[in-house]
Amino acid sequence: MGTLHRLVWQKIKELLPNELQSSELRWLLSPGPHMSLLTQRRATLIVNRVRLFAFLFAVLTPLWSVIDLVVFPFPLWLSLAGLRLMVCIAFICVLLFYKPSGDMPDAYRSIAILFAIPTVFYICSHTLLGNYQLAEMSAAVGAGYAFLPFVLMAGLAIFPLTLVENLVMASVLLLAHAFAGYLSWSTLNWPSFAGAFWLLMLIAGVTALACTSQLAFLIALVRQAVRDPLTGVLSRGSGEEILARQWAHSLRHDSPLALAFIDLDHFKQINDDYGHETGDQALRQAAAHLGSALRASDMLIRWGGEEFLLVMPDTPAGAAQQALARLLAGGLGTRPDGAPLTASIGLAERQRDTADSVERLLAEADHRMYRAKQAGRNQLCLTT
Ligand code: GH3
Ligand code: MG
Ligand code: MG
Repeated sequence: MGTLHRLVWQKIKELLPNELQSSELRWLLSPGPHMSLLTQRRATLIVNRVRLFAFLFAVLTPLWSVIDLVVFPFPLWLSLAGLRLMVCIAFICVLLFYKPSGDMPDAYRSIAILFAIPTVFYICSHTLLGNYQLAEMSAAVGAGYAFLPFVLMAGLAIFPLTLVENLVMASVLLLAHAFAGYLSWSTLNWPSFAGAFWLLMLIAGVTALACTSQLAFLIALVRQAVRDPLTGVLSRGSGEEILARQWAHSLRHDSPLALAFIDLDHFKQINDDYGHETGDQALRQAAAHLGSALRASDMLIRWGGEEFLLVMPDTPAGAAQQALARLLAGGLGTRPDGAPLTASIGLAERQRDTADSVERLLAEADHRMYRAKQAGRNQLCLTT
């Protein structure tokens, strides 16, 4: 059993060359181990897709009434048109009230709502149509109403979901289908119902593959986007996202948030005297030193050429000051001429500096970094 498991795993890895690293494969199974930036991107993507589909359905659902009008008897058409209008309003509400927040619970809720609306419509229309004996064209269109569960199941494929998430959502859709069958128990055509159920399960399988391959693609994209290729620390773009998120977290929990602007001293001289390549090496070395001094919750971002931003969540000014003093004492490596590579650091903290926006807090840290430069470099400044 163990050997078979290993063989299958090995084969899967072979079939995904250069797409996912082996540590990322288990991210396809469940959302538990996802890093926060991936979670945020995924949640945003999901809500945006929900909004796109809510818009499409808000337009298409009432439009279909025209076809209903041609083929169905008037009383049936009227009930269906009323239903369609309510569905349209529900989708418009999703569009109006659902904006991406970057949180997965919000994303799950948005998928649930997107799917709940047509499911309710399906159950109601199924019951309505059951009351009529339809023939020819109207029977054909009526049969079309029964395709909705398949459309929903296939529709799951538009989301980058893990296998576990997919399993949960597909099960809900299968249960809804079974429930509709239960409602029309007396008139149920068993062979056709069982056939439809089987087809639905097949579609669920293909959909699960589509969802996970979307997720794999997203994981690879996020990894490439978040790391700065030279130093391996977080890139500026992802850093800004992290910063916005940490700021919101700090406000929500009224917790401290410390930012340190770190600018290497006389860096241009290294480039001028020893060439750009040596400069790059010194940069990598400095990033490695900074990285090794971090706590697990701290985040290091390459903000500009030889400037780094250290984000320290839940860290009061005093503790941040101690950590940075230690960092300065330890140094950031050596310059090509053997002298120590140093940096000037500006520190700001949300609570102590009563900053009212993340931009203000950043500007404060930046300003203090310049004061540290003016005061002679290789030091930390924490007041304006
Ligand atoms: P100061 O102590 O005032 O900060 O002096 P400095 O020379 O570090 O400051 P300045 O801002 O004048 O110069 C920064 C230099 O960093 C300029 C640029 O050549 C160098 N630099 C920026 N990005 C890179 C990079 O990716 N690789 C290399 N090798 N050098 C870089
Ligand atoms: Mg600079
Ligand atoms: Mg500099």
